Amino acid sequence: MAYDPYQNVLHVVDTAGKMLGYEPSEYETLKHPERELKVSIPIEMDDGSVRVFEGYRVQHSTVRGPAKGGIRYHQNVDINEVKALAAWMTFKCAVVNIPYGGGKGGIIVNPSELSKGELCRMTRRFTTMISPIIGPDKDVPAPDVGTNGEIMGWIVDTYSLLNGHSVPGVVTGKPVGIGGSLGRLEATGRGIMLTTKHILEKLGKKLSESTIAVQGMGNVGSITAKLVSAEGGRVVAVSDVSGGIYKEDGLDIPAILAHISVRGQLLDSYEEAGIKRISNGELLELPVDILVPAALENQINADNADRIQAKLIVEGANGPTTVEADEILAKKGIVLVPDILANAGGVAVSYFEWVQNLQSMYWTEEEVNSRLEGIMKRAFDEVYDAAQEYNTSMRMGAYLVAIRRVVEANKMRGLWP
Ligand code: GLU
Repeated sequence: MAYDPYQNVLHVVDTAGKMLGYEPSEYETLKHPERELKVSIPIEMDDGSVRVFEGYRVQHSTVRGPAKGGIRYHQNVDINEVKALAAWMTFKCAVVNIPYGGGKGGIIVNPSELSKGELCRMTRRFTTMISPIIGPDKDVPAPDVGTNGEIMGWIVDTYSLLNGHSVPGVVTGKPVGIGGSLGRLEATGRGIMLTTKHILEKLGKKLSESTIAVQGMGNVGSITAKLVSAEGGRVVAVSDVSGGIYKEDGLDIPAILAHISVRGQLLDSYEEAGIKRISNGELLELPVDILVPAALENQINADNADRIQAKLIVEGANGPTTVEADEILAKKGIVLVPDILANAGGVAVSYFEWVQNLQSMYWTEEEVNSRLEGIMKRAFDEVYDAAQEYNTSMRMGAYLVAIRRVVEANKMRGLWP
């Protein structure tokens, strides 16, 4: 049976709800997304044929504020994945205590197989089809795997034209020239770098004395690699869909980033003296101090968890570790900083972007970064303390913080009618 990440969500909600001493009825609603929209998106392809893509927008919760979360373009998108990703957004926003619920969207498509024109038409048609349920006060999309600032720009334009006026706050992660925030592009990676430093401090270790492997060279993985190496960490391995590269002395990260910044150019065509080509699976099992899975779900699972040699895992991706793997890693004494804390820097700066849009007042990059630091530090401390207090993992610590906030908000609003 295919891996279903939504089962992971149900499991963790139950476990955290019980640990907090809630009655099942108090957290039952968290197990059910508020709204799921499925759309069929017909597109005229460049050759004149018509293809119909399937897309989704799921709003898991709007109890603490508008739904918030990215849109994923990937060939393996499915409804249970989108539901899980939407729920994780609710908990992520609650962990960093920003006034949002959680949502997520996706289209089953491999965007690298589409021309730019096809991608643009698909995005505009999808935006139109989900336009009744999105908006700055309802549900605010953003980039995720396979989408980027350019695509967010098309969404703003489409939504604005449909509404007859410019609505920059309908999405975040836009280009800076049309209302995007300074610092948003780097925010997820910056949050991961900051969180890594916080946990290393607790463990009595230093980034400058650590080796790091990063799985995934999308926005999250590449910026993480850039920032941790700029802080003195030795990035020894990175990977993308084409495979990975390993060099014990440390890789030339700026050269790698320059290489992959060319559209369509992957790591398999990158050359550097002394590199060894490895698979994505091998990257995960390297003897490094820190492993950052920054690709997709279900990468560290019951099959390979026992072979993980890293001492610390900081989750850049959403849901890279399964419930079974969590248990195996814990038994091995591996410390794990969970996704809903570690990668929350992205949505935190999305929140700043939305606030700037609503106020039409724009901040400096320094202001964005310093507010991000404040949010990440406070969230880290709250999660760490909750884990200590309940004698549990940081994953459960994060869920304890998040689920308490969402359940309490639910109670304050009450069940109507
Ligand atoms: N897709 C990102 C995430 O998973 C960002 C979401 C956002 O900024 O709304 O956290």
